[in-house]
Amino acid sequence: MRRLILDHALLPGGWASNVGIDVESGAIAAVHPEASPDGRERIAGITLPGLPNLHSHTFQRGMAGLAETRGPEGDSFWTWRQVMYRFLGSLTPDDVEAVAAFAMMEMLEGGFTALAEFHYLHHDAQGRPFGDIAELSGRIAAAAQETGMGLTLLPVFYAQGGFGGAAPTEGQRRFINDVESYARLLDGARREVAGLDDAVVGVAPHSLRAVLPESLGEVVAMAGEGPVHIHIAEQVKEVEDCLAWSGQRPVAWLLDHAPVDRRWCLIHATHLDPQEVKGIAASGAVAGLCPITEANLGDGIFEGVDHRAAGGRFGVGSDSNIEISAPGELKQFEYSQRLKHRARNVLAEREGQSTGRSLYETALTGGAQALGRRIGAIAEGHRADFVVLDADHPDLAAVSGDRWLDAYVFVAGRAAIDTVFVAGKPVVRNGRHVSRDTIRARYVQAMARILV
Ligand SMILES: [Zn+2]
Repeated sequence: MRRLILDHALLPGGWASNVGIDVESGAIAAVHPEASPDGRERIAGITLPGLPNLHSHTFQRGMAGLAETRGPEGDSFWTWRQVMYRFLGSLTPDDVEAVAAFAMMEMLEGGFTALAEFHYLHHDAQGRPFGDIAELSGRIAAAAQETGMGLTLLPVFYAQGGFGGAAPTEGQRRFINDVESYARLLDGARREVAGLDDAVVGVAPHSLRAVLPESLGEVVAMAGEGPVHIHIAEQVKEVEDCLAWSGQRPVAWLLDHAPVDRRWCLIHATHLDPQEVKGIAASGAVAGLCPITEANLGDGIFEGVDHRAAGGRFGVGSDSNIEISAPGELKQFEYSQRLKHRARNVLAEREGQSTGRSLYETALTGGAQALGRRIGAIAEGHRADFVVLDADHPDLAAVSGDRWLDAYVFVAGRAAIDTVFVAGKPVVRNGRHVSRDTIRARYVQAMARILV
């Protein structure tokens, strides 16, 4: 049992001081408001529940910055994807693990304490399954083990190159499975995470363009009660192709043809008509927003204001990992809406509410739901995952309460993070991961080889 006392903490009922926390087996066994410090380890600063990162492809951290040179014409998501296919062509299992560990380390330093890894890189460079079909899932699990990251692993089902069963391209050969080999992959992934603390495995049909309708049902059934994540309506071209294929827009098609409920997380959902906005909210599914990546890729702007007004749920993800920051994702989400609506404080729900707190708390709840774990609150029974902000940081020192969150999200960002706990253990101290030197050295070595 670890017994802590937190100077200041954001509890489900609001801000509290001198909060005693008993941690047992990685979870919060008891919360004691106004506890005595006797026999407790003091955590100075401002303790928040750690934010879940609901969408990432960790290997893409290695190509961050490699697609920022202008091409011959019309750079887009699709030209970025060509760079991505070239980059992943040479990755070995050791590279995948080294890059994943580096990305997870940065996520922990950046305020994320749990991750849903949307893992689609399965096979060797020639597209042949490894001896253990779940080899690369095992490498993701190993990176989570090394860094301490809480893991929801989502092996991706990817079967075709485009809508209506188009053949996969050469660039996609490392992703491809049929339903039968996917079932084996999923079993393997469940074995690979069995040794991790409190890990969950869900399913991820990649997108409507990569999965035929009949396989979608079979794959979703394999999730059981676990999470189901899918990329949807990220690009205008994807909406047009879906309309040409089915006569329906992607989200409308999905809501009509799949059992979308609170197990589901719809990644991006950028291009929505008003009916689709209402449909997502009514389904109980989480909108998985990745505002920094969506801006980097030029995807478009989510219908955030209407989605909030309809009572929709959301969480945030670092997706391509071009920049890793929990407060940064929330800031970019709010700023995208300010630019769209030419107004300020648009995602807070009522007069007098702090935008930082409103964004943070909604993303905690939505993220926890999407990851399928008891996380996202400093409350009994939840994992002891905390982000502790430095109360002496110049942007935080003279304020208190909700202003701390506004300063964290909009001003100081990840520079305000001092300590990060996962399952009651400190994995980041003074803003640095405890294994930073080793993980960084291995990453730099791998990248030097990959980028020759
Ligand atoms: Zn993605």
